[in-house]
Amino acid sequence: MADNCVFCKIVRGELPSFKVYEDDKTLAFLDIHPISAGHTLVIPKAETARNIFDVTPEDWRATTETARKVAHAVEKAMQADGVNIMMNNREHAGQVVDHPHIHVIPRHKGDGLGQWKHSAYKDGEAESLKQKISAAL
Ligand code: AMP
Repeated sequence: MADNCVFCKIVRGELPSFKVYEDDKTLAFLDIHPISAGHTLVIPKAETARNIFDVTPEDWRATTETARKVAHAVEKAMQADGVNIMMNNREHAGQVVDHPHIHVIPRHKGDGLGQWKHSAYKDGEAESLKQKISAAL
């Protein structure tokens, strides 16, 4: 989106990448600082959005479908025991590159990468949050 968007530069061929898949709407390439070997990023080619909040439904559909295909390929190629599909949206959620991107991260039994911690709701909290979120849709 911005002039300094590194993923836009990769789309335009102005920066190199280890491309694993491309179609008319999407591109998938290796993350340069992988969480695990084979960590792949899937992006829409359109240079009009920053994250989940402004990506078009059409580009999102295409990007998630490519992520689905890439997940199969990554798991098979890396002989992984599973994959994490992850997306950071906005700075405080860990987004560094302002172009929508889905992380496909191979996982192996005992890889030590861990999982997020879960918590519990207090009495009545889930009902109140459910109403808040439903009302915002
Ligand atoms: P995020 O924190 O979700 O915005 O993730 C951005 C990801 O982009 C990080 O995992 C980086 O390692 C990765 N990255 C940044 N620059 C490049 C690049 N030129 N080629 C491939 N991956 C990159």
